[in-house]
Amino acid sequence: MHFQWYPGHMTKAKRMMQEDIKLIDVVIELVDARIPLSSKNPDIDQIAKNKSRIILLNKYDLASQQQTNAWKSWFEEKGFFVALVNSKSGTGVKNVHEVIQQACKEKIERDRKRGIMNRPVRAMVVGIPNVGKSTFINSFAGRACAKTGNKPGVTKGKQWIRLNKNVELLDTPGILWPKFEDQLVGLRLAFIGSIKEEILNMSELSLELIKFLHEHYKGMLANKYEIEESEDSLETLTNIAVKRGCKQKGDLPDIDKAASIVVDDFRNGRIGRVTLEFPIFEEKEETEEVDETIKE
Ligand code: GDP
Repeated sequence: MHFQWYPGHMTKAKRMMQEDIKLIDVVIELVDARIPLSSKNPDIDQIAKNKSRIILLNKYDLASQQQTNAWKSWFEEKGFFVALVNSKSGTGVKNVHEVIQQACKEKIERDRKRGIMNRPVRAMVVGIPNVGKSTFINSFAGRACAKTGNKPGVTKGKQWIRLNKNVELLDTPGILWPKFEDQLVGLRLAFIGSIKEEILNMSELSLELIKFLHEHYKGMLANKYEIEESEDSLETLTNIAVKRGCKQKGDLPDIDKAASIVVDDFRNGRIGRVTLEFPIFEEKEETEEVDETIKE
C-alpha cells in the first residue's frame, strides 16, 4: 500500500517549535500507545536535546496492557520519564504532575543551589496530529485554566497556563510530523485513523489489519464477529460480511462495507486492546560471570 504525504507547513512548524522550546524546561511528548514508535517524530530528539523529556503513552485504553508496560520499560531504558494516560477519561493524567517533578529534579536542585526558590518549571506538549494533545491539555489543565498572560521576552500572543505553584504549561501544543517516508509507519498510522480517508483504500487496509490480527492476536476477530478466522484474510473478511448481512446486488457479500466496519470497530477499540508494534530490547552484556573469572 502506498501513501502520499503533503507536508505543507512543516518547515514553519519546525522553526516555531525550535523557538518555543528555548523557553521551556521539560518536553511532554505524546505518542499513541498502540504505535509508540510510528507515532513519534524523528527530529524531536535533536530539537529537544538538553531538555528533560517525558513520554506519555496516550490512549493506553486502546492498547494491550502487557505491551504498553513493555514500551514503558523500553522508553525508561532510553532515559525518558514515562507515564500511561487516557486523556479522554482522565485516567493517569493527575500522575503527570509527579512525573514532571521527577523529570525536573536536577533543574529544581540547581535553582535551589543558586538561591532561586519556587520558580515554576515550564512545560510544553508536543506530538503528531491526532495523538490527543488538545484532549490532554484540557484534561491536565482542567479548571485551573487561568492564563498568565504574556511574559517578557516571549513572542506576543503566547499564553502560559499556570497549573499550580510548580508548573506552567504553554497553552498551544507543538505539532510534529511523523516519519512519512516509511511505508510501514504509514500503514500503522492508517490503521489508527491518522491518515486522511480519501487517500486510503479501505478494503486493502482492512485486509492488512486482518492479517496482522490473525498473526498476533489470533482468535480476536473470531471472538468479536463470531466467525471462522482463516489464513486467507479475504476469506475472513467475507465471513464477516456474511455474518453482518453486508450484501450487494445479486446477494453477493459486500466486502467494502465489511471492510469499513472492521476498520471502524478497530479504531474505536471495539475489537479489543491491540498494540500494533512491539519493542525490541537490546541484549544486556553478561558482565557478572566475567568478573567471577577475573577474581579466581
Ligand atoms: P490532537 O490533534 O493531538 O490535539 O488530538 P485530539 O486531542 O484532537 O484527539 C484526537 C482524538 O483522540 C479525539 O477524538 C480524542 O477524543 C481522542 N483521544 C484523545 N486521547 C484519548 C485517549 O487517551 N483515549 C482514547 N480512546 N481516545 C483519546
